[in-house]
Amino acid sequence: MISGIDAHICDNCIVQAYDLWQQEMQPRKKSRTSLHLVKPVEIKRHLDQYIIGQEKAKKIISVAVYNHYKRLLQKHRDDEVTIEKSNVLIIGDTGTGKTLIARTLAKLLQVPFAIADATAITEAGYVGEDVETILTRLLQAANYDIEAAERGIVYIDEIDKIARKGDNPSITRDVSGEGVQQALLKILEGTIVNVPPQGGRKHPDAKMVQVNTENILFICGGAFEGLDKKIASRLDQRPIGFGSQSLTARIQKEEYNLLEHVTAQDLRSFGLIPELIGRLPVIATMHPLDKVALRRILTEPKNAIIKQYKKLFEMEKIKLHFTEEALDWIVEKAVALKLGARGLRSICEAVMLDAMYELPSMAVKEFVVDGEYVRRQMEKFLALHPNHPQTHSEAA
Ligand code: ADP
Repeated sequence: MISGIDAHICDNCIVQAYDLWQQEMQPRKKSRTSLHLVKPVEIKRHLDQYIIGQEKAKKIISVAVYNHYKRLLQKHRDDEVTIEKSNVLIIGDTGTGKTLIARTLAKLLQVPFAIADATAITEAGYVGEDVETILTRLLQAANYDIEAAERGIVYIDEIDKIARKGDNPSITRDVSGEGVQQALLKILEGTIVNVPPQGGRKHPDAKMVQVNTENILFICGGAFEGLDKKIASRLDQRPIGFGSQSLTARIQKEEYNLLEHVTAQDLRSFGLIPELIGRLPVIATMHPLDKVALRRILTEPKNAIIKQYKKLFEMEKIKLHFTEEALDWIVEKAVALKLGARGLRSICEAVMLDAMYELPSMAVKEFVVDGEYVRRQMEKFLALHPNHPQTHSEAA
């Protein structure tokens, strides 16, 4: 009990009242803050601090995001020229930084951000998530501030997995493919959607929140496995007449640049419907991460993995040091895993587990992770996990 001049209040009531006050006040406080408009060069500079490489993609996305939010500002004026929405499609292997770019953008712009998985969505009426649940997540991220959610960023992952199976558009609709693309269309374009605030299936009597998706920036990402081959075969059919070197040979040399030549036609033959392609006018392609990039990712970004481990140990007053050889070892293992930068994290976890377990109880001031330590820890880990993909890549 806390007593005032002529009243008392108990601790439970204080907590409840504080929660209520926060719920009431916070959305209003946030929606009053004006849009944080950042110039493309500044956006890219910010992305550079977190995302290694992917220069062209970062540039394309910085411009798209800037234009998107400029369009938002323009909406208040009566202009004859209306700027169209510039949703983004990012094509690139897993673990190359697609989600990281979207997440970093949202943080910089101070807008709500949600991630959705296209494969979890199904056409209305089937078992699975309705397309509206994507917006439920955004609403939750915005703390139910509709106005803030309406200018947020949504990252839809695995968009390539809802491609139409087979090239024949007349086959019956498939639950996970074209139907979902159709469902996504309307929210991508900009419409008012009835969103169940708590998610889940729509009940006839559930209270809905209306969300206008016109100013929500959608970034879709996918690996589009096999797309490079489609591009190659298209390029190969083009009559070219220079030199004796065949196009295929040239393509093989600059293999990973192939995706940069992607056109709407390639995406269509991959199985995206033309209407959906039309609503994703900005296309950025990510490069596979080579050894040099992976090595930089370990130590350079603002929240690099190695910096995070050092921080964890610093909190125990232990100075953690990685030798160059140790870092090279980790990179070697990550390359073998073929999971992009995602592999780095899982390898580091395997390497650092014992140290993180034992050192806090020991009187140690400094700990050095060298090549030999990494090698030993990995061997130990793989002996315990015979089914780990790393074990197979070792064997191969
Ligand atoms: P995906 O392309 O599959 O969406 P993510 O963006 O989720 O990949 O990347 C997984 C993790 O790998 C990120 O959290 C980040 O730590 C790291 N990562 C991936 N690519 C990069 C990159 N280009 N620069 C820095 N870190 C990266």
